[in-house]
Amino acid sequence: MRVAMFFVLLVGSLGASMPHASAFAQQSPASTEQKDKPKLAVRPNDAGAAIPTRFDLLRGAYGPYRSNNDLLYYHLNIRVDPQEKSIEGKNTIRFRMLQDATRIQLDLNESLKIDSILLGETPLKYQRDSGAVFIDFPHTLRAGQVYSIDFSYSGHPPETGRFGGITFKKDPAGRDWINTACEETGASIWWPNKDQWRDEVESMDISVAVPNGLTDVSNGHFTAKTDLGDGYTRWDWHVSYPINNYDVSLNIGDYAHYSDRLGDLALDFYVLPEDLERSKPQFAQAKGMIEAYEHYFGPYPFGKDGYKLIEAPYSGMEHQSAVTYGNLFENGYLGRDWTGVGISPRFDFIIIHESGHEWFGNSVTATDRGDMWIHEGWTTYLESLYVEYRWGKEDAIKYLNGYRPKVHNLRPIVAEREVNANPTEDQYFKGALMLNTLRSVVGDDAKWWMLLRDFYQRFKYQNISTDDVIAWFNQHSGRNLTPIFNQYLRHAAIPRLELLWGEAPGTLMYKWAADEKDFAMPVRAGTTGHWQTLQPTTKWQMMRTSISKDDLQVDLDYFFVDVNKQ
Ligand SMILES: [Zn+2]
Repeated sequence: MRVAMFFVLLVGSLGASMPHASAFAQQSPASTEQKDKPKLAVRPNDAGAAIPTRFDLLRGAYGPYRSNNDLLYYHLNIRVDPQEKSIEGKNTIRFRMLQDATRIQLDLNESLKIDSILLGETPLKYQRDSGAVFIDFPHTLRAGQVYSIDFSYSGHPPETGRFGGITFKKDPAGRDWINTACEETGASIWWPNKDQWRDEVESMDISVAVPNGLTDVSNGHFTAKTDLGDGYTRWDWHVSYPINNYDVSLNIGDYAHYSDRLGDLALDFYVLPEDLERSKPQFAQAKGMIEAYEHYFGPYPFGKDGYKLIEAPYSGMEHQSAVTYGNLFENGYLGRDWTGVGISPRFDFIIIHESGHEWFGNSVTATDRGDMWIHEGWTTYLESLYVEYRWGKEDAIKYLNGYRPKVHNLRPIVAEREVNANPTEDQYFKGALMLNTLRSVVGDDAKWWMLLRDFYQRFKYQNISTDDVIAWFNQHSGRNLTPIFNQYLRHAAIPRLELLWGEAPGTLMYKWAADEKDFAMPVRAGTTGHWQTLQPTTKWQMMRTSISKDDLQVDLDYFFVDVNKQ
């Protein structure tokens, strides 16, 4: 049956002409409507969250001894001994005071020794507490003034966390291979810094001395290599942009190196010598990846630092301008069809995903770990943009919806702020499916592409919160998207479209069941290819339809919602 109009929407409240209006009215929230506006749920209702430890509170909070200063610059200058599995050296930390104070907070894992902390020649006193280092100055540091301290340390950093934090390994040929991946554990597991997300240095130098014959590849632009004459060579790298602490990385090994260019952008590739030939066709995907993301968001964010792909002994990590790679030089993710719909095998998941973080995660950064969906939800969505750029919208939507089975909806995506909370994995897949839903809500692809680009351009090189994202999209879409963002981000459940067929033929009631009281979102329903847009709210509305309960479908590929037909 093909009819031009499937639904006759009855605008307004439930009509008395409806034979079963009273039955529906009992479920209507209209009579209990409250005047007060819903408050922004700053604390997510997340019963599944771990109880923070003292370590988490000191690490997670942007406390008074962090907020009284603004980071400007680090020079991390260290020596790494593969035999001893040890590090020694110092971080020179430059910061501007934002208020008068005599104390600041930095962080360093308790297993590492503090050799000295100096302001010029003056040794500073400090107190260590659960990974935090509170440094006391003999005189008041003045607001507006810039200070520099040298924080010297040494010892054996622990290997812990998903990717080890820092690992002292051997490559398959038995040569030293030392790598960092410390987003989860925090960078202070191997070097002293202000270990939080909100504040970043404006630029950084990284100098790493390693035994002769080994190479260190860190972030930024390679500036020099100096034989120190004692069996060690120092590798110097300069980062010209703000950088997350956890993005700062060591990759020490017997690397083979080759280069390419994409316009003005230097591309550098570092792999174990045995992997040189097989890496070349695989790493060639970097160019198409950068072209795709530049198409949607604008230039690669770290042009002066170049783009690097570096082989590492774990699957991959988005280290800024120095993406680490361990995806077997195969398409898909560790040999798998990652979203299970036949599209993932067309490209290398790690190159496409981890590099997407250069735009979302490294350039646009969350202020708190609890808002990490700004990194992972967005970058997972970027994967689908890569697919769309290469193979079109239909494949992109199919790829994205392959993520549906990975979503659990057991906890909110946004975790509590200031407690070093680790958000649920839903931040990836559900975050991306939410953005795909928002595209459908906007309902105009040209406008959507403009919103994405403008959003990125507005917040590049900045640290933002979930509230910043919502406020910006509200302002620039001309819609109140707050209840939609809140439902997907701050509650466990996704919105459920309630469809209730009346006893009278051809009558259908519909509304959203959602935690957000003012939840309202358009959705398409009908039959495949013949969709019509409904504007459900959390109050029952009625329509007439010629489509039976069995035949009526909701456009679930474009709207990540549940449906309950009764
Ligand atoms: Zn990621």
